[in-house]
Amino acid sequence: MTLLDIQRLFDTDDKCREVLVRLRWPHGVECPRCKSKRISWIAANKQFDCAECEYHFSVTAGTIFNDSHLPLTTWFTAVVLLVEARKGMSANQIKRTLGVSYKTAWYLCHRIRAAMQETEQPMLDGTVEVDETYIGGKQHTYSKAGYGDSNKQIVIGIRQRGGDLRFFHAQDVKSGTLAKFIRENVSEDVDVIMTDELNAYPTAMKSIAMTTKHQTIKHKAKVYVDGDIHTNTVESAFSLLKRGIIGTWHRISAKHLAAYLDEISFRFNRRKNANLFLDTLRHMVTAPVLTFEKLTA
Ligand SMILES: [Zn+2]
Repeated sequence: MTLLDIQRLFDTDDKCREVLVRLRWPHGVECPRCKSKRISWIAANKQFDCAECEYHFSVTAGTIFNDSHLPLTTWFTAVVLLVEARKGMSANQIKRTLGVSYKTAWYLCHRIRAAMQETEQPMLDGTVEVDETYIGGKQHTYSKAGYGDSNKQIVIGIRQRGGDLRFFHAQDVKSGTLAKFIRENVSEDVDVIMTDELNAYPTAMKSIAMTTKHQTIKHKAKVYVDGDIHTNTVESAFSLLKRGIIGTWHRISAKHLAAYLDEISFRFNRRKNANLFLDTLRHMVTAPVLTFEKLTA
């Protein structure tokens, strides 16, 4: 769906509300407090009334939209801008496009980003590439030579060839850390795991009994592809991440890095999904509230 489609289909808050009701309660409206389905609609308040516990609630109560004074049409526009921007969109761009304050734009972006988290993460299978990269810090080259620079943040990427991508903000690239991410995201039945020659990988593979499935590409010897052995598909995902950080967000704090990583991989894993917009909205009415206090704590 394009920006124009969204503005045509959802040009009033009533229309937005209607689709949110269907996304939040596909099997009929249910009271968030007592789960009763004996619900009536109070048109004047744009709220539901529970016949069981008398609770009044809106479709956005207790969701990512909670307590927002922005029109739903503005929210919908922000969502389509964020999901369609392949390399991401900064709070400043959202501010200019929607004509809202920077603070509002910033909070809006973070809330939508909070909804862009995978709820079900299938284990990766087939041929899986694992790689690490370093971002941020003073140097503007992002080479692995940056290892040990405490200003840099470590990102571990795991990608199934022809399948899904996962990004993680890691504290270090020690074997225990790598083993943990691989164990939690890669199926035991994986065919092969490809990495570069970082020493921690063989140790990590040994600790999770994956040694026989491990293949290494020798980047230091300037070998990038050896037949089928390479980590190029995870590296192309890293370059998407870096273009997003350089071109769009400019500088992101270590604190919020994990949320940006979730946003990039969420969008990446749905690149062929025509329902990305509705999928994001569905997450927004089913994911828990993200308060300003929590975000800035
Ligand atoms: Zn109730």
